[in-house]
Amino acid sequence: MRIITLTCPECGTVVAGNVIENQREMKCPRATCSETLRFTDLDEEDRRHLLEHREKYTMEQSD
Ligand SMILES: [Zn+2]
Repeated sequence: MRIITLTCPECGTVVAGNVIENQREMKCPRATCSETLRFTDLDEEDRRHLLEHREKYTMEQSD
């Protein structure tokens, strides 16, 4: 399975793509960073991959 991540352009924190897919838009997890990370920041190909494999990512998350 592909690991898709988004790197915060402000502080470099790496966030799992499926987490962003789940929330669509989220504040950077780093407490001192106020950047907002959006699902639409991902490449179109990565977004499509996440949507097509949603169930698999959800399963992996609940392990
Ligand atoms: Zn950040």
